[in-house]
Amino acid sequence: MPCCNKKKKLKGTDKLKSILEGWKNVIWRNPEIEKIAHDRAEICAKCDCNDKGWCNDCGCPIISKARSLSQYCDKWDKVDKQNGL
Ligand code: SF4
Repeated sequence: MPCCNKKKKLKGTDKLKSILEGWKNVIWRNPEIEKIAHDRAEICAKCDCNDKGWCNDCGCPIISKARSLSQYCDKWDKVDKQNGL
């Protein structure tokens, strides 16, 4: 599967909010979000777009992207659905 998400990308204020949400969840860990982040990160670990912990598709660090519930990736669809997102 190619890097680029087919879904519409977040922009402007929505993107800023999603970035802040991710970093908030990096600093203040929540067990439920950690499970989702773990499942997402397992997919990122095998993804060609993962460049030393950075997602080449959006330019975000995966540590925070995976912890932002408003972020999405086509490759996360299955785990996000399993986690009720
Ligand atoms: S978020 Fe993860 S799985 Fe999705 S394109 Fe980026 S590195 Fe790949």
